[in-house]
Amino acid sequence: MHVQTIGNLECSVRAGRYSVTLLIGAPGAGKGTQARVVCETLGIPHIASGDLLRDHRRRGTPLGEIARSYMDRGDLVPDDLVIEMVIERLGAPDAAEGALLDGFPRTLAQAEALDGELAARGGGVRAAVNLDVPTEALIARICGRRICGNCGGTFHLQLRRLPRDGSCPDCGERLLQREDDCESVVAHRAAVYQQSTTPVLEHYRRRGLVHEVDGARPVQTVADEVLALLQDRVRELVAS
Ligand code: AMP
Repeated sequence: MHVQTIGNLECSVRAGRYSVTLLIGAPGAGKGTQARVVCETLGIPHIASGDLLRDHRRRGTPLGEIARSYMDRGDLVPDDLVIEMVIERLGAPDAAEGALLDGFPRTLAQAEALDGELAARGGGVRAAVNLDVPTEALIARICGRRICGNCGGTFHLQLRRLPRDGSCPDCGERLLQREDDCESVVAHRAAVYQQSTTPVLEHYRRRGLVHEVDGARPVQTVADEVLALLQDRVRELVAS
């Protein structure tokens, strides 16, 4: 893998310009899994709007309470709330030199707000990776997904033999199925994604920032391709 090379190039880019990388893809496309690999390699924080919202729900904040009904139906949480939450997170010290955004922006209004915020910091979106997976595969993936609320692990019933007692193979806590991972909600989430996120992809395509990646392949194959294309992009920026 290209860990060292990317790390060095990343530092050069960081020194010049604040920028974020976007990971775009339908629910179940593997954004969270890929984000973990990429962020570990690049040494940048992984900011997932869905994780931030679930954290608000767990803590019972006013935002968490408002978000609950939207999320349980598979609808998008209103733009103004999500925008404020993500921009605030981008202001945290660990994101001072950039971040990888997963699941945000999901609407054109969110994309425009993000662009404005990044421009105000003298930066912008460095690259948008579109993880493409056929809809039938997405639904099967999500319905078989189990998560560990303790260590954050994500597992798939068909890909890995899991302990019979339903515990996490990494930390032993009980594995859970997200409430919005049931089949009826998943189909709706996929439709909402198509409708609201297509304009976001078009927005960044017009600016030549979108990289299409076939997300239906094994995790490491996809991760290697994502890292390689980010490395190329970083080189371009360093050269420009
Ligand atoms: P995710 O974990 O990305 O699949 O998101 C789970 C749910 O959180 C979504 O179905 C939405 O209800 C909500 N959500 C996450 N990110 C956003 C966003 N950028 N805009 C609006 N709602 C979001």
